[in-house]
Amino acid sequence: MIKAIVSGAAGRMGGRIIHMMEGVPGIMLAGAVERPDHFAVGQDVGEVVGLPRKNLPVSGSLAQVAAQGDVVIEFTHPEPTLANLKVAAEAGKAAVIGTTGLSAPQVEELKRLAAGARVVFAPNMSVGVNLLFKVVADIASVLTEGYDVEIVEAHHRLKKDAPSGTALKLAQVIAQALGRNLDKVGVYARHGMIGQRTDPEIGIQTVRAGDITGEHTVIFGGIGERLEVIHRAHNRDNFAKGAVRAALWIVNQKLGLYDMQDVLGLK
Ligand code: NAD
Repeated sequence: MIKAIVSGAAGRMGGRIIHMMEGVPGIMLAGAVERPDHFAVGQDVGEVVGLPRKNLPVSGSLAQVAAQGDVVIEFTHPEPTLANLKVAAEAGKAAVIGTTGLSAPQVEELKRLAAGARVVFAPNMSVGVNLLFKVVADIASVLTEGYDVEIVEAHHRLKKDAPSGTALKLAQVIAQALGRNLDKVGVYARHGMIGQRTDPEIGIQTVRAGDITGEHTVIFGGIGERLEVIHRAHNRDNFAKGAVRAALWIVNQKLGLYDMQDVLGLK
């Protein structure tokens, strides 16, 4: 039985991960963590997420409960994610990290910490989106010229980072397939007399509205036709199920950094 600790347990994703873990054979909730000043700290985690009591209090510190688990599932914010990964790595625990919005230096720090641990880090843990990463790379490798690439993502009004980690990964995958450097060709906003679109640019546009769970549209716009690929998440359960699947998978891997394509066998 794999023992999982959920960090960010009172958050939107943490709550759904705890719900999705119920009834999955081979894994159980062994710990729950929140930021130290969160009202949920000290309360029963079952009651916090709307399940029957579990007689498991939410802790305000991963260090206090790390010994109880085999794997930490972390969907929080960039800074606590790095601090908690350090704790998990030092305790010899595996980690599944779904947090997005890490800066480039923060990703470098994550990679450094992951070298001595077992870590799955993925901006999107749904099966459909990971298939999308594969499909858009295939499309881009055929439509190498004459097609303008634009990515449009839409999320709920509470999302803190933009563009989404998924949109950035889509852009990276496509840039790689086209042999372009995303740092040079990524265009994240357009306003005013900006002139004609350049051929190599990859547009990444952000919509924030209401309670949209997550939508990603990739457009390959040619002259006389366009190809669009769309993924729409209807709720958070697909991400949460992916996180549980990743937790079951990572505990049996060698030390190192993996992504959801590894977990799903899509590479
Ligand atoms: P949220 O704000 O609802 O939840 C985050 C939780 O983390 C909060 O409850 C907060 O109190 C908690 N937290 C803050 N500091 C903490 C600490 N030091 N220790 C423990 N917990 C702490 O946000 P959310 O919608 O659940 O999203 C969380 C992250 O997951 C975001 O970065 C989001 O973009 C990402 N996300 C990833 C996927 C994926 O599939 N990878 C899917 C959805 C969301």
